[in-house]
Amino acid sequence: MTSSTPPSGPVVTRFAPSPTGSLHIGGGRTALFNWLFARRHNGKFLVRVEDTDRERSTEAAVKAIFDGLSWLGLFPDEEPVFQFSRAGRHREVVDQLLAGGHAYRDFLSAEETGALRDAAKAEGRTFESPWRDREPSVDDLMKPHTVRFRRPREAPVVVADAVQGEVRWDTAALDDLVILRSDGAPTYNLAVVVDDHDMGVTHVIRGDDHLNNAARQSLIYDALGWSRPTFAHIPLIHGPDGAKLSKRHGAQAVHEYAAMGYLPEAMRNYLARLGWAHGDDELFSDEQAIAWFDLDGIGKAPARLDFDKLAHVNAHWIRLADDDRLAKAALDVHLSRGHVLAEGDEARLTRAIPFVKDRAKTLLELADQTAFVLRRRPLVVYDKALPMLAGESGERIGRLRDRLRLFESWDVFALEAELKAFVEEEAVGFGKVGPAVRAALTGDGVSPDIARTLAALGREEALGRLDDALQQTK
Ligand code: GLU
Repeated sequence: MTSSTPPSGPVVTRFAPSPTGSLHIGGGRTALFNWLFARRHNGKFLVRVEDTDRERSTEAAVKAIFDGLSWLGLFPDEEPVFQFSRAGRHREVVDQLLAGGHAYRDFLSAEETGALRDAAKAEGRTFESPWRDREPSVDDLMKPHTVRFRRPREAPVVVADAVQGEVRWDTAALDDLVILRSDGAPTYNLAVVVDDHDMGVTHVIRGDDHLNNAARQSLIYDALGWSRPTFAHIPLIHGPDGAKLSKRHGAQAVHEYAAMGYLPEAMRNYLARLGWAHGDDELFSDEQAIAWFDLDGIGKAPARLDFDKLAHVNAHWIRLADDDRLAKAALDVHLSRGHVLAEGDEARLTRAIPFVKDRAKTLLELADQTAFVLRRRPLVVYDKALPMLAGESGERIGRLRDRLRLFESWDVFALEAELKAFVEEEAVGFGKVGPAVRAALTGDGVSPDIARTLAALGREEALGRLDDALQQTK
């Protein structure tokens, strides 16, 4: 079967994070692929928190993962399932496997197991517990023991992976997996199979670091007489240098990307392209991704993170984003940088957004480019600009200020025309006016063109800043 074969029943996918840290972009992409595939087939996307490892699982990590998923806009169609709460059901299935002869009780102590394993390794054999073929006595049954899955050894296990193709494992080389620990705790591979089965999961899309688990899990499905899901193991994300993504490549957690000023829709667009392709399409909406998403489009080679591409995708989504939303986002950045909000700030920020949104690659840049509207009067004009505001040049700026004072319609087009008329009248090039006015209006000379800067600041603030600057150089 190839992945282009339409699924027969309703599609159910799941994202199954272990809550041991924040949501990484690799996990975010896995969640996204599962979400897209479910949406594409009008199916269900579920979330299961794999918290069976009690030592490593934390409440904080559960929250961080849910926060990451919400930020990405990937909401499950049902309440998340917590794996640990299903331990009773997992034990029930262990009993079922024991009853069917597909599992056995192993009474070896940890030390004995270690010694036998070492000996098997030295001889190049696969470790087998002698209890695989030994009937426990009634006395034995009272002793602590683990339960192992009795794998069939005769035939290879073959998984028709929707991404990796047909993959086979020699069962003789796999050992008999512990499915229940001596403390009664079910182990990972068993829990995953039982939960995926009970949740009706039809497609398991996850990182290819789980490919070997697919072999073990398939054998458990077969032993239980349950049909296997379609597996799709996606290559992990690599850093720009081609090495496995790690701390030295920079941000790994989804929340770090949020803090760097990427929009969630841009992140979805970019992550969808990371390892999956629809022709040469780079910029696409959720609707398009849902209409196109297909397991056939997932590549076999690891995708490389490319920050320039991400910036390009983000710039695209910033251009398309609603101005009020961007103003709010920029304000949040300013506040996080210590800005103290004053009357008029929000209005000025909102007016500035349309003038800068075409140039910002991140929300942080959007904040940088709107910083000029939030400065408090009187501004400190950068040193080099001071001569432009004094002497003859200063007088000219004074004349412009007087003219603007009388100017009523403070919109960008009218201001543009007015500035043009002014330089014509003065018979100077715009270069004799622009830098000086910009320095007066912004302090540091960073802003959109003058008409837009004036429009964003608003009449009163703009005239006030011009007055201040001319005062300063008198
Ligand atoms: N809990 C596993 C992980 O976080 C995923 C297991 C699975 O998807 O089957 O790596």
